[in-house]
Amino acid sequence: MKRSIIWFKTDLRITDNETLVQAVSASDEVLPVYILDDRLLDDRPFGLRRIGAFRMKFLLESLEDLDYSLRSRGSGLLFRIGRPEEVLPELVKKYNVSKVFGKKEVAFEEKQLQVELEKALWKQQCVFEDYSTSTLYHALDLPFGIRDIPDVFSTFRKKVEKETAVREALSAPERIITPPLPKLILPTLLEFGFQEPIQDSRAVLSFKGGETAAMERLNHYFFKSNALSSYKETRNGLFGADYSSKFSPWLAHGCLSARQIYMHVKRYESEFGSNDSTYWLIFELIWRDYFRFVMKKYGRKLFTLNGFNGQQAPGNSKDRQLFDRWMNGKTGDSFVDANMLELRHTGFMSNRGRQNVASYLIDQLHLDWRLGAAYFEEQLIDYDVSSNWGNWAYLAGVGNDPRGKRIFNTEKQATDYDSKGEYRDLWMGSNWRL
Ligand code: FAD
Repeated sequence: MKRSIIWFKTDLRITDNETLVQAVSASDEVLPVYILDDRLLDDRPFGLRRIGAFRMKFLLESLEDLDYSLRSRGSGLLFRIGRPEEVLPELVKKYNVSKVFGKKEVAFEEKQLQVELEKALWKQQCVFEDYSTSTLYHALDLPFGIRDIPDVFSTFRKKVEKETAVREALSAPERIITPPLPKLILPTLLEFGFQEPIQDSRAVLSFKGGETAAMERLNHYFFKSNALSSYKETRNGLFGADYSSKFSPWLAHGCLSARQIYMHVKRYESEFGSNDSTYWLIFELIWRDYFRFVMKKYGRKLFTLNGFNGQQAPGNSKDRQLFDRWMNGKTGDSFVDANMLELRHTGFMSNRGRQNVASYLIDQLHLDWRLGAAYFEEQLIDYDVSSNWGNWAYLAGVGNDPRGKRIFNTEKQATDYDSKGEYRDLWMGSNWRL
């Protein structure tokens, strides 16, 4: 009897999940497990947390949906809280498991954890096998080794687009045979010390976690609203559900894969024709890939003040008052404040907003950019280690493509993107006009 564990992390889906497919085909029985790492609940400096209520809610919803999908195939999800490098060896022993399958990681802490885990599993003669499942282009298909990934995005993109094909998305396994599992009972937000977040009527969308909701959103954006056809023109918007895809929370939790989006773009193009917008969504997914490969290349350096490109960060202040004002939308810059209030009340902010508030913290307040990144990590529903830290480092001029360092003139940006002040009215009332 070959029994394996599939360890779900930020790949909370059954479709296009190579780790799951491999685990099922290599085993007689598969035990699906999710472990909420209790270090995620530790406090950090400045009273920040690694995860806030919005993302935790989305995560719990995603786990519930995953359990539902697994049960419909004869399986289910086992949930634990603790340290994966301790919990998994316990489960290996209890269920007599010979292999653990997991998603390949690129970020430093996640990789460290895996080293610890492999050591512990080794002692039990249990093998760990990982698969790369989160990017559009498979890491093994890149036309260069990770060490040679170009530091300029457009060089990377052009070469990849020319020389690499996107692999087909994989179907979900039809049946997953699993030892008997108890019913899934997840802790409540309150048990984690969070208040249930209030659904703010001003939010761009009421995000719901899970693969089911991800596919509904994809169908809505592509086929029901046809919003994809004008994505390139609307993507810098600030208001409403459809100025951009809003796929990011599902992508970040792995409820949806970049390849599934790609496949659906191709389907859309064959039915309705291609245009700049259909291409542009893929272009953005290549940015997402890029930040992952850059993370893999530079590892820990990406989390240091001066990053990896030899430049000095514009500021290293940790002034508590300035940081508090920025977090709470009280800087006095109305465009920055409105965006920070949106983030605080909803867990989401547009890309335009993110660029402006980040540039403000870096270039006007001269704070250590990592404080901003850490606050985003807590607040964002779509927090993703590579996209978040990569974008922050990029804006601080210490990441990839240093020639791209831009300082955003937030007043001009407000005039360009919120010319009538409606966005600021929405989040701040009319006081900012006085
Ligand atoms: P769309 O415009 O519809 O784009 C489609 C998808 O492309 C997105 O879902 C995302 O996966 C990808 N994408 C688009 N822009 C970028 C980008 N600049 N970098 C990487 N991927 C991109 N995105 C995250 O998913 N998680 C983060 O933690 C995150 N932190 C950010 C921090 C800063 C300072 C900045 C400037 C950007 C950050 N982004 C992050 C990127 C981007 O802002 C969001 O992906 C985007 O706003 C999400 O909305 P959407 O899904 O509607 O995007």
